[in-house]
Amino acid sequence: MSEPSQQFHLFLDVLSPPTQVAGADKIEVPAGISFLEAPVGQPPRLLRATEMRDAAFLLEPILRARQPRLLLISPGTRRVRVNGQPAPRLTLLSVKDQVQFTPDYLLHVTLYHRSSIGPPAPAAIGRECPICRAPFLPSTTVYVCPACATPVHCEGEERGAERLECIRLGPDCPVCGAPVLPEGYSYVPELCRG
Ligand SMILES: [Zn+2]
Ligand SMILES: [Zn+2]
Repeated sequence: MSEPSQQFHLFLDVLSPPTQVAGADKIEVPAGISFLEAPVGQPPRLLRATEMRDAAFLLEPILRARQPRLLLISPGTRRVRVNGQPAPRLTLLSVKDQVQFTPDYLLHVTLYHRSSIGPPAPAAIGRECPICRAPFLPSTTVYVCPACATPVHCEGEERGAERLECIRLGPDCPVCGAPVLPEGYSYVPELCRG
């Protein structure tokens, strides 16, 4: 997979003082390891590679038992609260978790799914659909599972009565069991401020 089809986003919520946040209202966590700074009294933010600090928190999206999780490692003596409880130094975050780095800000964990419906990737042409066993043609349309990257037929009305809609036969990926999801957030948090 060249570009991840799902990405962790952290929605920023201000607990006190109830003022407008300067800058972005959410943090988009890239693939791989990234570092986050959370000084007291300021909103948490991702650091650029050039501004590495010892006191930064480490974030890394991972798959655990095929479920997307966000690894969080706290520096030194800093500890976060997850869902109101003190969390260990090494924590695995899930969608819907609420993370507090400092008392004033709350981050809601959610996943953004990119649209993964389109023509098959060049490497997938000629491979068999896991449901109907027909090989993928360049002219077909496939859904690509965000968890295991398996393509499955997902042709639309334009193909007429002969269309292959294998992905619509069930709610889950036939190979790994991950839910079939449309583009958008898997969970939209209700923020404290309006
Ligand atoms: Zn098929
Ligand atoms: Zn899958």
